[in-house]
Amino acid sequence: MELLKNRILTDGKVIGNSVLKVDNFLNHQLDIKLFNEMGKEFRRLFEGEAITKILTVEASGIAIASIAAQYFDVPVVFAKKYLGNNMDSETYEAEVFSFTKNQSFRIRVSKKYISHDDRVLIIDDFLANGRAILGMSQIVRQAGARVVGAGIAIEKAFQNGRAVVEQEGIRVKSLAIIESMEGGKLVFKD
Ligand code: 5GP
Repeated sequence: MELLKNRILTDGKVIGNSVLKVDNFLNHQLDIKLFNEMGKEFRRLFEGEAITKILTVEASGIAIASIAAQYFDVPVVFAKKYLGNNMDSETYEAEVFSFTKNQSFRIRVSKKYISHDDRVLIIDDFLANGRAILGMSQIVRQAGARVVGAGIAIEKAFQNGRAVVEQEGIRVKSLAIIESMEGGKLVFKD
């Protein structure tokens, strides 16, 4: 998606050789016009799939998934990382290792919000090593529901997330794919 690639080139900051900071349009300040275009593109990429629910993980996935959901006309469920005392006690859970934080955390979804007949599209902001997507797909499977695919805003192809996720039989569609960021120079796939 050219619009997203151009925005990454203009506003993205490479940290080290493997982390991209996109705080001013995707992870902190949010460009809703851009999110709308991303939502339309996700809809086009998953055309013809009978999707009943979008699943993401807090925090950064929520805004992207919510705007995209308007084009699918389905609810968004986000897996919680932080336990509030109002969280339902009946939950599906998975352990996720965070690449950016270098630690594991548990994600939880109330059993009320995914059912066995759901066809779930997973959406996230980044695909790095695939742990977040795998954790969410485990939750969908615990519910006996089906993962229709994973829609990613920015994929880093030099990490092995796509292979890990595809090995689970999950179709991956990314809006911008970065081949490398060596020395701070962003190179996109096609
Ligand atoms: P994975 O689970 O695929 O290893 O990593 C994906 C998760 O880590 C995403 O949910 C995202 O929040 C975070 N992440 C991974 N790489 C980056 C990155 O380069 N930049 C930012 N901003 N977040 C990242």
